Amino acid sequence: MSKQRIYLDYNASAPLIDEARLALLSALDLTANASSVHGNGRAARAIIEKARVNVAKLVGTHADNVVFTSGATEAAQLAISPILSGKNGQIELQDLYVSAIEHPCVLAGGRFDQSRQTIFPVNSRGLVDVDALQQILAQRQKDAPFLVCLMLANNETGVIQPVAEVASIARQFGGYLLVDAVQAAGRLPIDMAELNADFLILSSHKIGGPQGAGALVLADKSFKPQPLLKGGGQEFHLRAGTENTAAIAGFGAACVVAVERLDHMRKMIYIRDAFEEKLIDICRQKNNSHRSFEIFGADAERLANTTCFSLCGINAETALISLDLDGISVSSGSACSSGKVERSHVLKAMGRDDEIAGAAIRVSTGWDTRPEELELFLEAWSSYLKRLV
Ligand code: PLP
Repeated sequence: MSKQRIYLDYNASAPLIDEARLALLSALDLTANASSVHGNGRAARAIIEKARVNVAKLVGTHADNVVFTSGATEAAQLAISPILSGKNGQIELQDLYVSAIEHPCVLAGGRFDQSRQTIFPVNSRGLVDVDALQQILAQRQKDAPFLVCLMLANNETGVIQPVAEVASIARQFGGYLLVDAVQAAGRLPIDMAELNADFLILSSHKIGGPQGAGALVLADKSFKPQPLLKGGGQEFHLRAGTENTAAIAGFGAACVVAVERLDHMRKMIYIRDAFEEKLIDICRQKNNSHRSFEIFGADAERLANTTCFSLCGINAETALISLDLDGISVSSGSACSSGKVERSHVLKAMGRDDEIAGAAIRVSTGWDTRPEELELFLEAWSSYLKRLV
């Protein structure tokens, strides 16, 4: 029988949880378009609306503010719109301010022209430089409104960002805020009002739901971006197209469990800290010459499930292959769609050079990760280091 693999790459995609699988499978058996008025259609509609309530609960808002999409990438593209409409008509945003450590789906700038986009920096700990943002905004000549994008927790380092502080700076200068809560969801309590965000994006597959579902959450359903997909009136006229009822059902079920397991996720910090202590020992033994070792964001507040580290001189790509052969799945920085390991823009933004960034390995755990699995990672890592000259 083949050896069971050890999966330590939850930030890339988490395993489907049983509750989500069940909801997904039973919705797959419905023959219905949720927009149909007959009984079948109404059954599908009921499933979607139940999921909407559960997604809303995850972020402490009302179901009417939740717009289902195919994932967070689409939600970002939808939200990053230069034209917003509110109760008093349309607002034209002049500029877009995006933190240097955003996920590529936000860094791409949505529907803003590239010339209107400014990247604001982070410090060496992986935290956004709030003073720099304040200065950038203070230097604006115009008083036209703008959008700021900041993630709640970074997918590579796990560093938790000062979102509420950035929200109040943005407000002070007449701006709006989009928060990428993809990695924070299910790991930190999230309250839309506390964050003071206008828009928030979520992804189902990071919290144990199926891939291919996500949401844009509005602070107030009357303040919204221009639709990206036009056609039918689905999703409050914000996202045309027949809803993916089964994926949405699974997403909703995953949200219920994500709320229930928040306490457990918080306690995973003890497992992470014990793991990091051992990792430091192993790497320092190897490091007795001149290699430098670092856990990124170690002295900042971080998600309890993420350890991103680098041992200078290691090639992350080769290390990943070696760990993979030992049956262990981890990642280098962020997983990229091409399957090719690229230098992390996050670590670069934190001021790390190519050698350090090129050695970065990310271990990200989940609700069912056992300490023994991390021990096996450490064994494999240690024997990989011993094989190096
Ligand atoms: N934002 C962050 C922080 C992510 O980690 C990811 C996925 O890796 C995304 C957005 C995109 O999510 P999706 O896969 O649902 O498009």
